[in-house]
Amino acid sequence: MAGTREIWVLPEIDETAGEVHKLSLGLLTEARRIAGKVGGSVTAVVLTDRTPDHADVFGRYGVDNAYVFRDPLLKHPSPEAAAAALLPRLRQDRPWLFIMGHTALGRGLAPRLAGMLDTGAVSSCVKIDLSPPDSPKFYRPIYGDQLYQEVVFQRSGTMLATMDPRVLNIAPATRTGQFKTLVIEAKLPEGSVRTRHTGFLAADRREVDVSEADTIVAAGAGAAADDILPLVEELAALLEGAIGTTRPVVDGGKIPRERLIGQTGKVVSPDFYLALGISGATHHVGGIQESGRIVAINRDPHAPIFQSADAGITADLRDVLPLLIDRIRRAKENGEIL
Ligand SMILES: Cc1cc2nc3c(=O)[nH]c(=O)nc-3n(C[C@H](O)[C@H](O)[C@H](O)COP(=O)(O)OP(=O)(O)OC[C@H]3O[C@@H](n4cnc5c(N)ncnc54)[C@H](O)[C@@H]3O)c2cc1C
Repeated sequence: MAGTREIWVLPEIDETAGEVHKLSLGLLTEARRIAGKVGGSVTAVVLTDRTPDHADVFGRYGVDNAYVFRDPLLKHPSPEAAAAALLPRLRQDRPWLFIMGHTALGRGLAPRLAGMLDTGAVSSCVKIDLSPPDSPKFYRPIYGDQLYQEVVFQRSGTMLATMDPRVLNIAPATRTGQFKTLVIEAKLPEGSVRTRHTGFLAADRREVDVSEADTIVAAGAGAAADDILPLVEELAALLEGAIGTTRPVVDGGKIPRERLIGQTGKVVSPDFYLALGISGATHHVGGIQESGRIVAINRDPHAPIFQSADAGITADLRDVLPLLIDRIRRAKENGEIL
């Protein structure tokens, strides 16, 4: 198959459910779209320690071939184990393109394979433009999503890309078909992989990356005082929300920089964004536009944040936060909210 436009795609498997991860369905859809445009075939690559049956999903998403790489070290595969398993077959097949999710696995695997194959990898890609099909253009956001970088591969060799699965459409193929499955025993030598998966630790939701959080409780300069910040943290814990913040709070050293939201911080898209003591400067608000519901609390009724909010409370945080915490705690105890 060397030299043809074969597209490899790495759907990740939810080990608990034993199913293809929902976010990977967008990757399968994208692989099919690309194959349709360039006249190629789609090979789904599964890394596992058992013999899975994903025929139903792969059939629905128009996969042409499935490679099942099997090895005990591929249960919860590390990028190191995955690269060792895939490399021989990648060298043999030399697929045209290999896309994977911009996940913990994909982020580590793509650059590793790029080094091993002496090719390039585009990270966190949101769009692949196939006009002309011979020379695809890969787009990735830079500078806090303010600009897009266009990347073109200049050398032959497998093009590697990690895709942001959240921006991909999920659409089953119009034709559902038969596909061939090849089980490949990876036979990774004991000791060849230095990293081991030892278990999962439940994340403290307050510490979750703000760009991935469903609920964000954001503390602005008006919420950073020593007598208010503990109340903000208490509220975030009750709401199981991640703590976000603004630049003055980061500059003051009260909350670490990775929690900064806005133009120079992260762009967020939670279902619920609670803005506490935030004025609503455009530099900050630009990073919260994709949020579901925005609620603001500010003592200044003219604060611009209220223009971006679905609901607001004009009040001093010192007065309102203890009441809010008490009300939510009671509602949880009574089973009014989960
Ligand atoms: C190039 C550039 C890039 C920037 N990038 C970012 C960025 O990425 N993210 C970002 O956040 N900022 C950024 N900034 C800074 C931005 O312009 C604002 O200065 C910042 O967002 C303001 O933060 P704030 O709302 O927390 O503070 P302030 O503007 O000081 O607002 C504090 C608010 O708290 C209210 N308040 C005070 N005390 C209380 C209380 N007890 N109870 C209730 N309300 C109270 C006040 O009424 C006020 O509205 C950037 C600036 C520049 C120049």
